[in-house]
Amino acid sequence: MRISEILLIPNKLIKMNKKPINISIELKEVSPHTIIANYKDYFDLNAGAIILNNFIIVIDPLVYPKQAKEFRQKLEKKYGLPVKHLFITHSHSDHIFGVAPFKDVEIFGCNDLIDNLKEKKENAWTEEAFDEWKKSEPDYAKFIDEIEIIIPDKGFDKKRVINDNGLHVEFYYSGGHTGCSSYAYFPKEKVLFTGDEIAAGFWPFISDPTGDPEKWIKSFEYMLTLEIEAVVPGHGPIVKKNYIKEELSFLNNLKEAVLKAISEGKEPKEIDVPKSAYEPAEDWQIPRALEFLHKYYSNYKI
Ligand SMILES: [Zn+2]
Repeated sequence: MRISEILLIPNKLIKMNKKPINISIELKEVSPHTIIANYKDYFDLNAGAIILNNFIIVIDPLVYPKQAKEFRQKLEKKYGLPVKHLFITHSHSDHIFGVAPFKDVEIFGCNDLIDNLKEKKENAWTEEAFDEWKKSEPDYAKFIDEIEIIIPDKGFDKKRVINDNGLHVEFYYSGGHTGCSSYAYFPKEKVLFTGDEIAAGFWPFISDPTGDPEKWIKSFEYMLTLEIEAVVPGHGPIVKKNYIKEELSFLNNLKEAVLKAISEGKEPKEIDVPKSAYEPAEDWQIPRALEFLHKYYSNYKI
């Protein structure tokens, strides 16, 4: 999901925020060493943290620096440890705009994340775009003013592991929901942080131009080889491993439907979309996903 897009179409944001201003976050423990901060009012957005022996790794910094600052302060106080790394799951604004209070720690993601963020900073997240956003949402202006786009220091290619005295966290490139999507796995407690590869309770967000449904499918297949007790999605409630299986099967069914439509010379809007248990969060989601998949699989060699 992306505020970046909303930045360019302010009326969407106005529609979304008819309710009173609320940027409060709620912390919830997932397992003894993992915790999330949930921002209910923005599509049930999640940030996470893994508490190791000597330091904390944070996963995504929420939307507003004010929220990120609160999350960090609460973590460091509760566990008596410093945050040493911030892992960014992908380049969508709701997973990066809060980054400012972490500028003193190592910020990292996959290599493609760094490229995508540089491109967005240059072309989409301009001063004019932020001014438009503030104009359309004056109540949020003071929070928007604190946003800084910080490009991560360090990238990884396929995988990175961070060790701390016997505990470790694995980070994997996936590239499905966006070309720079990646996820984190904490084997000790079998917790998987998927970023927006999963938005639990929503029709999947498929339309990012850099995304890749085949990589998405492969990532789900790999995730299913891991031992998992809890899945923390980029949005929505914590789910079990079975949710990954369901999403994989939906992506495969959707792929089949798209390939069938293409072989019959049909247009994106004529695709026979398989049933999903979940509704889209926005009206544009399904039509845009179909356009994207039709184009992708038209050039795809089986
Ligand atoms: Zn996203």
